[in-house]
Amino acid sequence: MSARSTLLIVPLTDRSPAAMRRSMEAAAAAGADAVEARLDFLEKADAGALRTLLNHPPRPVIATCRRRAEGGQCDWSDEQRASLLAQAVRLGARWVDFELASLGAAGELLSALGQARQAELIVSCHDFEHRPKDLAGLLARLEESPGQINKIAFAAAGPEDAWAAFDVLRGSRKPALALAMGEAGLASRLLARKFGAFGTFAALSGQAASAPGQPTIAELRGLYRWDSISLATAVYGVIGCPVGHSMSPAVHNAAFGADGLDAVYVPLRVQSGAEAFTRCLDGIVERPWMEVRGLSVTIPHKENALARVGAANVDELSRAIGAINTIVITGDGAGPLAGWNTDYAAAMDALAASLGGRRESLRGRRVAVLGAGGAARAIVAALAHYGADTTLYNRTQSRAEQLAREFDRGAAGAVRAGDLAELGSLQAEILINCTPVGMHPHVDASPLPADAALARGTVVFDTIYNPIRTQLLRQADAAGCRTITGVDMFVNQAAAQYELWIHRPAPRDIMRQAMLDRLGTS
Ligand code: NAP
Repeated sequence: MSARSTLLIVPLTDRSPAAMRRSMEAAAAAGADAVEARLDFLEKADAGALRTLLNHPPRPVIATCRRRAEGGQCDWSDEQRASLLAQAVRLGARWVDFELASLGAAGELLSALGQARQAELIVSCHDFEHRPKDLAGLLARLEESPGQINKIAFAAAGPEDAWAAFDVLRGSRKPALALAMGEAGLASRLLARKFGAFGTFAALSGQAASAPGQPTIAELRGLYRWDSISLATAVYGVIGCPVGHSMSPAVHNAAFGADGLDAVYVPLRVQSGAEAFTRCLDGIVERPWMEVRGLSVTIPHKENALARVGAANVDELSRAIGAINTIVITGDGAGPLAGWNTDYAAAMDALAASLGGRRESLRGRRVAVLGAGGAARAIVAALAHYGADTTLYNRTQSRAEQLAREFDRGAAGAVRAGDLAELGSLQAEILINCTPVGMHPHVDASPLPADAALARGTVVFDTIYNPIRTQLLRQADAAGCRTITGVDMFVNQAAAQYELWIHRPAPRDIMRQAMLDRLGTS
């Protein structure tokens, strides 16, 4: 591992040298430590272009002219590319990147580097299909190459490919870049600094990315706490698919920042299926040095998470629900694991707060739940546990009946399936929407008929958080009901996770504001 600090590198993919030069200034202003001039993107890459780019650049420059076979735009021969990079060295490029597979043609480049005072060679290899089978062998070849810096980039199928990239960083004697490309490998970019990489790449804007999965520099520094990451940073994350629009990174990273914690929270896209989930989690537990301390789990992995963590290591109600959304990793990152379901706890606490009491104040309350999916399941199990009198309404009646059969506890904690025709005149004290009806972009839809009668004082809880005030909540406002939003529930579940991981009260106001900011801009 390198002792130097990890560079934040912005790749520049403009078509003209003048535009690339302007992007260089913008990258410097945005906080880049270095820029990568992707000469293969230029319409005309020649000595004139190099002079424009390398005349007192605002940040040190990596000159790269990537061949097509490794994801670039250049159709020149390897000798021509090496010759262009040799000119870049003579004109002051701080680093040049040349591919391992093309080194046989690097004669002119190597001799220019030999005469340069400061320039260094990055020897790179890329696989846009999958992780190379023999990463260790590849690294050994890079170590033997004439380069000063090793770079390996490959397409990621899951976060375990990011873990493999960290293995490369740990195993490399030279400073190294190891990147798992694509959304599934995002952690390899976000955590490069923690693992002592030579650098990571971040795009100036969403359109300017030079490889799949590159975050923007604003995301890296703002959302993902780049400037605060150290070798000792604790890692948290959310496992799900899709996970790109999850609110959790914004909410948890804001909380870590506010509490001054050396911790970061990253999205981990894991395709559906128990095997993919287990591959990701096993990879974490096998590498305690990654210091992953806790995980959130979202769709479609909550059941897989419970299966992997083990029924014996979760609370009784989570076991009954059959799903967890929180994993705590103890024992210095190697386990054992413990699991929790903070969704049900969050919903119960939001209801209890609205009733002015504790969860036990739900006992005997008449509750109508709309929907019979995952969210309804967690909420209905908890309602029955706390003795509420629950009626379930679902588009597919048989699912409601099945859920009712599973959780009905008789007198205290009754659960039955109702008829959708009853929705116009519900007699419930509490109404909870657990369907996506009314969610963005269908913001004018409501799970209740427009003329449904809602008694004044009814508690109406919509689990949807985008938009915050759904059509259902607007109906409730008009009828003089008390309302609970999906934001209330989300912040509650995130705060409960935080407290399980960090063992101190969560900064709820900060978390809520981070979520509102995110909703406002998404
Ligand atoms: P899910 O497992 O897919 O279940 C969806 C339920 O909604 C099913 O019962 C489904 O009925 C019903 N449904 C779907 N589309 C419908 C439509 N057009 N008309 C009538 N019913 C419809 O989803 P989930 O995980 O339970 O999530 C449900 C909602 O909860 C989502 O809106 C989500 O945003 C929210 N949620 C919020 C939080 C939070 O923290 N705020 C946490 C978790 C979930 P069928 O059985 O007939 O298919």
